[in-house]
Amino acid sequence: MAKHELLSGKLLYEYRTIAAMVQIYCKAHHHNTTVDQCEECVTFLAYAHTRLDRCPYGQDKPTCNKCPVHCYKPHMKAKAREIMIFAGPRMLLPHPVMAIRHLLAERSAAPGKPPSHVSNRHIRKSQES
Ligand SMILES: [Zn+2]
Repeated sequence: MAKHELLSGKLLYEYRTIAAMVQIYCKAHHHNTTVDQCEECVTFLAYAHTRLDRCPYGQDKPTCNKCPVHCYKPHMKAKAREIMIFAGPRMLLPHPVMAIRHLLAERSAAPGKPPSHVSNRHIRKSQES
């Protein structure tokens, strides 16, 4: 998990929110004190990180369940849903700000088609060259 610095702004904040949810989920379901001890959850977080990096909406990313793109593979999407359903309501106590921001974002309107060339990855690659 040394790739955090690739993301910034809203994407990084979303990654941290997902990581906090996975932590809650993993502790309850896999009995690990940190996600780092769990191969399954580390794999999921790495996948979520890649999807955020490549999200075609970039910094204007909507919440995933409002998004028309469906970029997750089916089994990863099922896992994401399971984690959110379990950890969402349990976020309020340890992470009230994240929980409330997430709920507010869920209520905003569904986005239109993504613009081109705004993903975090695209911007990073264009800065590298
Ligand atoms: Zn786990």
